Amino acid sequence: MKHYSAFAIAREALRGHTGWERAWRKATPKKRYDVVIVGAGGHGLATAYYLGRNHGIRNVAVLEKGWLGGGNTGRNTTIIRSNYLQDPSAAIYEKARSLYETMSQDLNYNVMYSPRGVMMLAQTEHEVRGYKRTAHANALQGVKTEFISPARVKELCPIIELRGPRYPVLGALWQDRAGTARHDAVAWGYARACSNMGMDIIQKCEVTGIRSENGQVTGVTTTKGDIACGKLGIVVAGHSGHLADMAGFRLPIESVALQALVSEPIKPCMDVVVMANTVHGYMSQSDKGEMVIGGGADGYNNYTQRGSFHHIEETVRALIETFPMISRLKMLRQWGGIVDMTGDRSPIISKTPLGNCFINCGWGTGGFKAIPGSGWATAELIARGEPGPLAAAFGLERFREGRFIDESVAAGVAH
Ligand SMILES: Cc1cc2nc3c(=O)[nH]c(=O)nc-3n(C[C@H](O)[C@H](O)[C@H](O)COP(=O)(O)OP(=O)(O)OC[C@H]3O[C@@H](n4cnc5c(N)ncnc54)[C@H](O)[C@@H]3O)c2cc1C
Repeated sequence: MKHYSAFAIAREALRGHTGWERAWRKATPKKRYDVVIVGAGGHGLATAYYLGRNHGIRNVAVLEKGWLGGGNTGRNTTIIRSNYLQDPSAAIYEKARSLYETMSQDLNYNVMYSPRGVMMLAQTEHEVRGYKRTAHANALQGVKTEFISPARVKELCPIIELRGPRYPVLGALWQDRAGTARHDAVAWGYARACSNMGMDIIQKCEVTGIRSENGQVTGVTTTKGDIACGKLGIVVAGHSGHLADMAGFRLPIESVALQALVSEPIKPCMDVVVMANTVHGYMSQSDKGEMVIGGGADGYNNYTQRGSFHHIEETVRALIETFPMISRLKMLRQWGGIVDMTGDRSPIISKTPLGNCFINCGWGTGGFKAIPGSGWATAELIARGEPGPLAAAFGLERFREGRFIDESVAAGVAH
């Protein structure tokens, strides 16, 4: 596969862009693979990539029922940060954040990582205490964050109203190397790199059954026929419950819709990401100039992959308190994704009751930021059959044993 470079762009410009190749091969399923990954979202593709890169396992297929990156990976608001409270979370999210720093070079694909800084506003005394605690925990974990004053908040984000009608801004938890990346590009970059290693990425191929013998997985049934495999990775976010059902076990997961919206594009007015958990909304500005806005998840379980009016109203009302200038903006479009929520708001990277069948899910409202770290950890689990240090705490058994990794505060606003 040809290397992307400034030289390649210049060469193609001179010959009318006739020399670009397909970014990844169109593949038809083989009869058998060493590893089959179900789900070509960011986590599934990153798992396949690190299986090849870190463990030399390249006889791999990634099966996707729709189009690549068409699930939550292509529907999120792209916030990347690692300022979590608990040690296992900080470790995996910081691993992911650090991999984002060099992802464009590693994949030879511009994922537009923009470490513009993320602030989480503290708007009650309780939040001030909570975020100061997180800043101290982050210092011990080697994650660089700080608690900043209202004056510094205003300096970093001049369009903010510090004296909101209900809640004043009392400070913020600030991570300066946090930011955003282009979500589709992350999926496309991993897909291209996987295809380059000889892996098959098969779109429009829905897994409809999981086959096993003597408690060990042997393959999957799909809309493109049966495919045998030595090991199976289930990486399907909001559809995890269905796949677990096919494999004969149950998951402590609820699926709900999470929504986002964007405004019409305007001139640059905000070069940081701001999350306002108390009023419940968050906002950043895309490179195109649109204000990218997100709010809370639906309060009831559903599989509705679209937006709804009451969420727009609640989220926009909350953000107008924080950014009064957006009251005059027109909204362009809204959408929804089905997110997979665990009770402790932490993910599952785990062996399952079915032998050689592994699962990665439960990233809920905040898994885009985790994609490279999660792929790294899941590839290690699948390759070795046992979790490495990054995944060890995220096993399914924690729900039975009561060892929760409580991140309900860090994941307080959907992001
Ligand atoms: C509106 C919204 C905003 C968000 N904002 C952020 C944010 O700012 N920052 C952040 O970190 N996270 C955010 N998230 C969360 C993040 O998008 C997800 O956690 C992450 O993308 C999950 O990736 P994934 O690869 O696990 O799942 P997905 O991208 O959903 O991929 C799973 C794939 O599995 C496929 N699949 C399902 N069933 C089958 C089957 N039977 N056979 C074959 N394929 C199947 C699906 O079609 C899908 O493509 C947001 C999510 C939403 C919806």
